[in-house]
Amino acid sequence: MTRVKIDTSRFKSDFDSLATIGATNDGGVHRPALGPDHLKARQWFTQRAQRDGLTVNVDSAGNHSAVLLFPEAEKALLLGSHLDSVPYGGKYDGALGVVAALEVLSAIKASGRSLGVNLEAVDFTDEEGTLVGALGSEAMAGELTPERLCNLRCSREEFVEALKRGDLKEESLFQARRNPDTLAGYLELHIEQGPWLHDNRIDIGVVTSIVGSRSFRISFNGRPDHAGTTPMTNRADAGLGACAFNLALNDIVVKQFHDCVATVGGMEFKPGAFNIIPGQASLCLEFRSRDKDSLEKLKAGVINLANDVARHRGLDVSLEEVAVWDPVHMSPDIQRIINTSASNLGLSTASIASAAGHDAQSFAPIIPTGMIFIPSIGGISHSPQEFSKWRDCVNGAKVLLNATLAAAESLRG
Ligand SMILES: [Zn+2]
Repeated sequence: MTRVKIDTSRFKSDFDSLATIGATNDGGVHRPALGPDHLKARQWFTQRAQRDGLTVNVDSAGNHSAVLLFPEAEKALLLGSHLDSVPYGGKYDGALGVVAALEVLSAIKASGRSLGVNLEAVDFTDEEGTLVGALGSEAMAGELTPERLCNLRCSREEFVEALKRGDLKEESLFQARRNPDTLAGYLELHIEQGPWLHDNRIDIGVVTSIVGSRSFRISFNGRPDHAGTTPMTNRADAGLGACAFNLALNDIVVKQFHDCVATVGGMEFKPGAFNIIPGQASLCLEFRSRDKDSLEKLKAGVINLANDVARHRGLDVSLEEVAVWDPVHMSPDIQRIINTSASNLGLSTASIASAAGHDAQSFAPIIPTGMIFIPSIGGISHSPQEFSKWRDCVNGAKVLLNATLAAAESLRG
């Protein structure tokens, strides 16, 4: 049988050419979902796939699939990740997985080998949550709900504009659902985005589970007032409420919730001027854990704390839960396949839980799903400083290729 090999120079030149799209001058990329540079990256994807004779399909959620069909295959094995980035993010997050998936398809096609499952390399829409978060993969997995589209991560106007730019219709997003019976499985290569693999000198992380998360918009409401004439003891300062809440929550999580992380990633004061006591302070809070019970307990803690702070400071508070992702587990069979594929290449492996969300989360509940991690230097991600050694990227692509071949064998039928 012909040997199938990653073409490392093609892989490198593809990765580098994609990284020029939306490039920032500090070495990162700025490609928010359905923004001009994300759409350019999608054009690049189409041209890249067609260059090697792969067909490209675009579904009603904008997911771009490069497809490699085989005569005896019925189901599709999906290999994917995302080409969108967080604002001013790094060039590896998502992009590595998509370029490696394309490379795997090209390598298998060039070898002339026929598999028992069709292959698709997918760029999913809006993984990073500029609009909704995992919009494309949830739509494809049939998990997108109308409620999710009521709790946007941007304004409704921005959402409508983004869909228009992407030539998408809100009501058609749900039609991207694929029947799980037609899908053999899902594999994703990604950077770890944390320091563990690098610190422990492990080549390949075999992902066991992906953390769940809860997101809230919290608004403290007080009384806007004159910043000069209002005595310090007679204020209903919503800004102080938001700050007190953030500091106290940090304490609670550090002391009582060892398996959780919590972040207030945004805070806005209104009216927002030097000389006005803030009448309203809204914040966006997200917390994560690999344990669903911990998430529920922390949620109860957050609600109690917000009410306590409000009462203590003479404020009103409202909480709105905007996203719920439960923790998911990767298929034990796929974990074994990834482990064997890496070991056969002489690479060291370790099981690892993902502390970051991924498109794999959408598929894990419905089809055999697995993820391959490579080390992130310093654990830095969602930053232009995000960096992985090229040797590790190539290792990841090789493991993805071998895992694809082995999974195609075991998941056919
Ligand atoms: Zn990612």
